Amino acid sequence: MRRAVFLDRDGVINENRPDYVKNLEEFVVLPGVLQALRLLGSTGMLVIVVSNQSAINRGLVSRETVEEIHRRMMDLAQAAGGRIDAVFYCPHRPEEGCECRKPRPGLLVEAARRLEVNLPESYMVGDALSDVQAALAVGAQPLMVLTGRGREQAARLLEQGLGKVPVFEDLPEAAAWILRQEGAPAGRCPV
Ligand SMILES: [Zn+2]
Repeated sequence: MRRAVFLDRDGVINENRPDYVKNLEEFVVLPGVLQALRLLGSTGMLVIVVSNQSAINRGLVSRETVEEIHRRMMDLAQAAGGRIDAVFYCPHRPEEGCECRKPRPGLLVEAARRLEVNLPESYMVGDALSDVQAALAVGAQPLMVLTGRGREQAARLLEQGLGKVPVFEDLPEAAAWILRQEGAPAGRCPV
């Protein structure tokens, strides 16, 4: 079984847009993210993006365009010496009640099944409570970042009883923390 770092897309890797990322021009990578992907890749863990893309079923963007954006994202990571091993996305609107839209853990479960990932030994970085909740639902370690929707969302961690979730400025800081965890095996809980 392999381990993975799961990453949300909008607000973690690229700038979040309230009106959705609908084309390549609107896909703007956040500062330091490509270097962070290189660091995460160096751990040997899989790097997997899991993303709610309800804009697809809202009719705002086609699957083809979303997948074009994901190819660009993966190419940028690779050009920077990192990698994104896979991308899983949910095309559904909230009212469709699917199993894959975060906070449900369907995307994580599907990724784990296909790529043989041990979820309780994995990390999930997101800018939203729904990312934290999806991670906790499968026993993965959640990390929250303050980019994207993070500032508004992190303020709600305490009221949700999630005050112990580690919070970071951005993906580079979260990646540095993960590397410290990985570099200190004695510090890992032996349960
Ligand atoms: Zn879905």
